[in-house]
Amino acid sequence: MATYSVSLIPGDGIGPEVAEATRRILEATAVGFEWEYCDAGLNALEKHGDVLPETTLESVRRNGLGLKGPITTPVGSGFRSVNVGLRQALNLYANLRPGKTIPGVQAAFENIDLVIVRENLEDTYAGVEFDTGTPEAAEVIGAINARSEKQIAANAAITIKMITPEGSRRIVEYAFDYARKNKRKKVTAVHKANIMKFTDGLFLRIAQEVAAEHPDIEFEDRIVDNMCMQLMQKPDLYDVLVMPNLYGDIVSDLVAGMIGGLGVAPGGNIGTEAAVFEPIHGSAPTHAGKNEANPMAMTLSGALMLRHIGEIDAAEAVEGAVAAVVSEGKDVTYDLRPDRDPSKAATTSSMADAIIARL
Ligand code: NAD
Repeated sequence: MATYSVSLIPGDGIGPEVAEATRRILEATAVGFEWEYCDAGLNALEKHGDVLPETTLESVRRNGLGLKGPITTPVGSGFRSVNVGLRQALNLYANLRPGKTIPGVQAAFENIDLVIVRENLEDTYAGVEFDTGTPEAAEVIGAINARSEKQIAANAAITIKMITPEGSRRIVEYAFDYARKNKRKKVTAVHKANIMKFTDGLFLRIAQEVAAEHPDIEFEDRIVDNMCMQLMQKPDLYDVLVMPNLYGDIVSDLVAGMIGGLGVAPGGNIGTEAAVFEPIHGSAPTHAGKNEANPMAMTLSGALMLRHIGEIDAAEAVEGAVAAVVSEGKDVTYDLRPDRDPSKAATTSSMADAIIARL
């Protein structure tokens, strides 16, 4: 039996409860794990004086694999975001967000089976910004106005949109590799190259080049606004969607909404050195410590991790067991019940037990 070392970052709020449920479910598969517990977030700040300690980064680098619970971001505190910090420190350039209908979960759409591949490090998220009225903004505006026919207002705030050929190539290659490994038929590149001819134009051109190297997988492109409308009207026409950071942020939440919301949606951040899998939802502080949060999104993130390491049978077993428990509707947490009554619902741990019994 293959054994994998995984850095387990339980996080805070409901994180430790859903992480423990997920750990038990993964332990019950045919795959072996060694778990290295790591701190991040507020508990790490108390213990190590840093929300993202170097020891946690070292652990994920060493293992190449991380499974992470949600982390509370204190509003207005000036702490760096752990999620952005992890992505940048480990070069996690691909954000993988599958959106698949799970029978039994209330959702506005049926039979959705889409995968969003979002570029995670470039675009307007690179963090190059200049605030309104600052001397730095004035210098940048001056330099641009001296070179551009179109002029920027002197008091404008500026965020730079940055797209590179290398960044575009590796994300589109990742989308094609994912499509091949997971028997997907089509990749759609999403962009706004009709307006942003240089940045999105570069992304589209590179996507077309990469597509030509993968003739076995169908390729097409869509302008992002049209893509959103088509997802509402004909989602069955689409399969794997690859796009720059900002569009990916928005479209992946749109697709999560189509399948029943953030509470059921898994995710992964994949890079050259390591990959970290985590649910999309936050730390849900009002449910913390009550053993009532839904462990499903974190468990499905664990299944994504299994797919990533090539343990496809175990991934399918976990996904199948989750789907069976949810569609039966008996051993599910409050949020999956029509009455949303925690007193009648399964607990986090009893839902995990029911999933384990179906493996
Ligand atoms: P949230 O996802 O924590 O909660 C949104 C709603 O969904 C709440 O009603 C919550 O109770 C419910 N919910 C979420 N997950 C659930 C689950 N597993 N089971 C049952 N119900 C669930 O979003 P929020 O309230 O905007 O954020 C709370 C904190 O989490 C904030 O500090 C935010 O910054 C942080 N956050 C962290 C991450 C992350 O670490 N990846 C992601 C999003 C938000």
